[in-house]
Amino acid sequence: VRYADGKGWYEPLVAARAPIPMDPASAVLHYAQEIFEGLKAYTLPDGGVAMFRPDANAARFNQSAARMAMPALPVETFLQSLHEIIRVDRDWIPSDPEGSLYLRPFAYASEVFLGVRPATEYLYLVIASPVGPYFSGGVKPVSIWVSPDFTRAAPGGTGAAKCGGNYAAGLSAQAEAAEHGCDQVVYLDAVERKYIDELGGMNVFLVLDDGTLVTPPLTGTILPGITRDSVIKLAQKAGRRVEERPISLDEWREGAASGRVREAFACGTAAVITPIGVIKGESGDFTVGDGGPGEVTMAIRQELVDIQRGRAEDPFGWVHRVL
Ligand code: PMP
Repeated sequence: VRYADGKGWYEPLVAARAPIPMDPASAVLHYAQEIFEGLKAYTLPDGGVAMFRPDANAARFNQSAARMAMPALPVETFLQSLHEIIRVDRDWIPSDPEGSLYLRPFAYASEVFLGVRPATEYLYLVIASPVGPYFSGGVKPVSIWVSPDFTRAAPGGTGAAKCGGNYAAGLSAQAEAAEHGCDQVVYLDAVERKYIDELGGMNVFLVLDDGTLVTPPLTGTILPGITRDSVIKLAQKAGRRVEERPISLDEWREGAASGRVREAFACGTAAVITPIGVIKGESGDFTVGDGGPGEVTMAIRQELVDIQRGRAEDPFGWVHRVL
């Protein structure tokens, strides 16, 4: 779907995937005015096809658009584009109960100019790609690297927006994590370099010895994860205490040593929920519990996956059936 100031969104089109002709002065290539989303379509036990909370992705897409000085996309257009691609690519949706068709809606500044200002023309697209189960051969904890130098987002920055620039800025940190043998980077806050923000592509939760879940608050520097929100709502519904408050790396390390922090997990669309194994950093490595999947973590994971996949009751109406 195209956009031009004064005209709005126009020319919706379904076409076979192909390269997009692009002028070398297209604004996005220079100033990274670009946003995206990620979600999955998957097969239900009765053979139908569903997405999980696509309305939440639509809302976040428009929050990202607002931060990046881009025009809002009507929610119906966002949802309709997903329905269209699912219909067209239906044969690519794995029937495997753990596989899915990953959907990537995105929009970028297509206007041709070199001045620094919000563009007046944009393109919105969706592409799809089949993915197998995130974990083959059982859930495996992720190892994480505390980046000593790099931050993901500062107050007033774009941390809460899902824009490509955030990920570009995180590539060095991710490479550093890999050099230290870790799967993911964990970012500390930009101001005090003391509190946990999030991982490169997932939000973080701790499970305390009294069963309380603790997760960093949405203060504008972390991505408001849809999985994070779903975990909070399910936990609260089950009568579990959930605290959204700053978590210092010291609290995590000391809690792991004393047993106050029993489990830690990360969550996001790709892996849903994954236990966090070892935490490595310049101030020393530590593990929570035995570093293996925790009981509460795995129970919440099972509950959420069963709702998503249509194997359990859906108390919040999150499963959006398409076919
Ligand atoms: N944080 C970051 C930086 C991410 O890229 C993602 C993945 N979208 C998440 C958190 C988790 O968000 P969600 O649960 O909506 O996938």
